[in-house]
Amino acid sequence: MLTALWLIAVVIGAVALAYVNAAALVWTAGIAVALGIAWMAHLLPPWLALILTATFVLLGLALNVPALRRKLVSEGILAGYRKVLPPMSPTEREAIEAGTVWWDGELFSGKPDWRKLLALPRPTLTAEEQGFVDNEVDALCAMITEWETTNIYGDLPREVWQFIKDNGFLGLCIPKEFGGKGFSAYAHSRIITKLSTHSSVLSVSVMVPNSLGPAELLMHYGTDEQKRYYLPRLATGLEIPCFALTGPTAGSDAASIPDYGVVCWGEHGGKRTLGMKLTWDKRYITLGPIATLLGLAFRAYDPEHLLGDREDLGITCALIPTSHPGVEIGRRHMPLSAVFQNGPNSGKDVFIPLDWVIGGTPMIGRGWRMLMECLAAGRGISLPSSSIGLTKLVARTVGAYARIRKQFKVPIGKFEGIEEPLTRIAGNLYLMDATGMLTAAAVDLGEKPAVLSGIAKLHITERAREVVNDGMDITGGKGICMGPSNFIGAAYMQMPVSITVEGANILTRSLIVFGQGAIRCHPYVLKEIAATQEADHETAIAAFDDAFFAHVRFTLSNAARALVMGLTGSHFVGVRVDVAPETRRYYQQITRFSAALALLADVAMATLGGTLKRREKLSARLGDVLSLLYLCSATLKRFEAEGRQAADAPLMHWAIWDALFKAQNALEGVISNFPNRIVASIVGWLIFPLGRPLVVPADDLGHRVARLLLAPSATRDRLTAGMFLGRSADSGVGLIERALEATLAAEPIEAKIAAAVKDARIDGKLPVGEGVDTLVERAVAAGVIDAAEAAILREARELTERVVRVDDFAQDLGRSEMRPVSAATGTTGAPPTIIHRAAA
Ligand SMILES: Cc1cc2nc3c(=O)[nH]c(=O)nc-3n(C[C@H](O)[C@H](O)[C@H](O)COP(=O)(O)OP(=O)(O)OC[C@H]3O[C@@H](n4cnc5c(N)ncnc54)[C@H](O)[C@@H]3O)c2cc1C
Repeated sequence: MLTALWLIAVVIGAVALAYVNAAALVWTAGIAVALGIAWMAHLLPPWLALILTATFVLLGLALNVPALRRKLVSEGILAGYRKVLPPMSPTEREAIEAGTVWWDGELFSGKPDWRKLLALPRPTLTAEEQGFVDNEVDALCAMITEWETTNIYGDLPREVWQFIKDNGFLGLCIPKEFGGKGFSAYAHSRIITKLSTHSSVLSVSVMVPNSLGPAELLMHYGTDEQKRYYLPRLATGLEIPCFALTGPTAGSDAASIPDYGVVCWGEHGGKRTLGMKLTWDKRYITLGPIATLLGLAFRAYDPEHLLGDREDLGITCALIPTSHPGVEIGRRHMPLSAVFQNGPNSGKDVFIPLDWVIGGTPMIGRGWRMLMECLAAGRGISLPSSSIGLTKLVARTVGAYARIRKQFKVPIGKFEGIEEPLTRIAGNLYLMDATGMLTAAAVDLGEKPAVLSGIAKLHITERAREVVNDGMDITGGKGICMGPSNFIGAAYMQMPVSITVEGANILTRSLIVFGQGAIRCHPYVLKEIAATQEADHETAIAAFDDAFFAHVRFTLSNAARALVMGLTGSHFVGVRVDVAPETRRYYQQITRFSAALALLADVAMATLGGTLKRREKLSARLGDVLSLLYLCSATLKRFEAEGRQAADAPLMHWAIWDALFKAQNALEGVISNFPNRIVASIVGWLIFPLGRPLVVPADDLGHRVARLLLAPSATRDRLTAGMFLGRSADSGVGLIERALEATLAAEPIEAKIAAAVKDARIDGKLPVGEGVDTLVERAVAAGVIDAAEAAILREARELTERVVRVDDFAQDLGRSEMRPVSAATGTTGAPPTIIHRAAA
């Protein structure tokens, strides 16, 4: 009996020590005490006590004396590590090392410190930035309609381009000292969001020069001379930039570009100059057809050793004026009928001087690192912001449409079947916007969040696709038939562009989020890898020893924490910061899943080693857990930052509930597909000792969320804040808003008529060919409603008809008649062709 109690105490003690990540000496002391009690109370047979004590002394010495530990244990493990670690190419290493670790590191720690997240300041706009968003951005939006731009002009009209250039839209992120706006990443994100609520042609055209491209690369790596010359020209639109990395054979595997530059002497500006002869073939390059400045990525070679010993110098980035002889550029692709400028470019044996390399000669061969560093920040801003914009547009317009459009005499938004997609639209938007805000805040704090920006890009664009698909289902034929009054069809067509660019989503999910995340965010793995690559034997062993034993304790701690939190439902996890009471459980559950993720990641890396890289389904699910915990963190942060708005709470609850349920499924997906079934059983038991705790979000919650989109409210305004609502109440979003208000005003009046029909105060049977007007007249005649109410009904019907109506065209799809004068611009629709190169 006593022995059993002792054994239980030993197990509890061990779990407790592991839980608190006790130091080796504390473990040693704990075991010594346990053995001492066993000896004194004669709890074990003497032979067993002797074996245990001897083992303890030997292991205690080996593990607690650093010199012995390194010699006896770490050296062997280090050798094993070197054998199993998959080979890492320099480009892979540069991609993994790019950027910084931020909140992702906390989520990977198994014990996120919520105080850090909640202490972050809420991102805000300066007065100047707010003024720009309210005035210049609105003015730009008002200049065009997406339909005219796409179907009539095939490009942004000349005066729109001029407005973009004159008002600094191309230099949002360029510092003021170089003539740019010097705006924050958050301001950039709000500008792109607003533009894309109106026109994706506008948002792409403005987004690209402000994302990864010549300006960003120059700001970080350019020589002073390059900065002084180009940045003011880029900021004011004297130069239109593009950046060309992708080619026919190098897409997702961008580091494999075959484009090359050979260092040689040549003639430039009438002088013999050291430079490179470039040969390239690129495609899909945004703004390429109108660019005046081509940012080009290629691999540099120095076969004649004009620069040094090495022949293959590596990926290099240069800036080439497109007017330079030999640059072939100007033709266009048609990316899913979108008319932002995009096309191929090429060149053969084009000589450029070395000082056209961004950063000059010292930066030859450093191009991949430059791209990875800059991508880390940019990827989290541009595409997420434009996807958030599309989602706001869908939420506002489709929500209203679901209230306006009736079938079976009921607004379709009140059917449970439609409620489901409406719920997803609203809940996803709340979470997506929260994630966009947090990621922009990180960039503004000086972070280059490589993993988090990949997560933001992947999950925000993926959810936007789900939202747009849901919106299409809700609008039915209205969404399908294209025309000036279709408010969602263009978003549907253009959604795949965001999914594909800046790291196609499948690749990002399968390879980048966890592949990079596990190595970058893990507190010890990168240190262990670095130790395996250390040339000096003693330094390597010392560094490896430190990292490895800390890693072991970290894993044990996460195993104990996952188990204890699983057994107690994480109810006792301390959040250690003041949070809204109704969200406290979420912090506890995220902490639990964070420990589970850290444990599972360690077990996956330890048992699968280098093969984990190829097990993309497992790696993607592990990445999903990390991603979903980030999305939940952002959502909780938003709820706090916005002052715990009670009316918005259903959005927050649905978003977190849905994401945590998906995170649970992802954990389950890894465990149930783990190749080693014994390990899977043990880990499964540690993580879900009492089974899976979470279920799908409740229907009742979904009902409350969906209703938020069906009528104007402060919550709906907060959800869709930053939209361009249009300047006309007669078209676009303005018309839908008016129709929604009129519909809501009409509903109680319709209810009065319906009640009167039911009570037989008026005859509800209408003669064949007679419409609702007759019923309204009868209601007025019977005194059920008055003339003013009848007018409200008529207005609601007229506006509803206008919103529900779809466009139709002549037999040739209206091509012969599509030359209207733009109301906003006064232009006549003669499609401008390639005007920009000449203009610049
Ligand atoms: C409209 C548009 C604008 C663009 N603008 C630019 C630009 O300005 N500059 C520029 O340089 N490039 C640009 N691109 C290129 C863009 O970045 C590439 O399209 C993208 O990198 C994917 O390459 P790909 O299209 O060749 O697809 P592929 O590389 O052929 O990929 C096809 C599919 O395979 C998946 N895949 C590939 N490898 C893996 C893997 N290891 N594991 C799992 N899945 C994988 C991908 O996720 C994708 O789903 C643009 C593209 C488009 C369409």
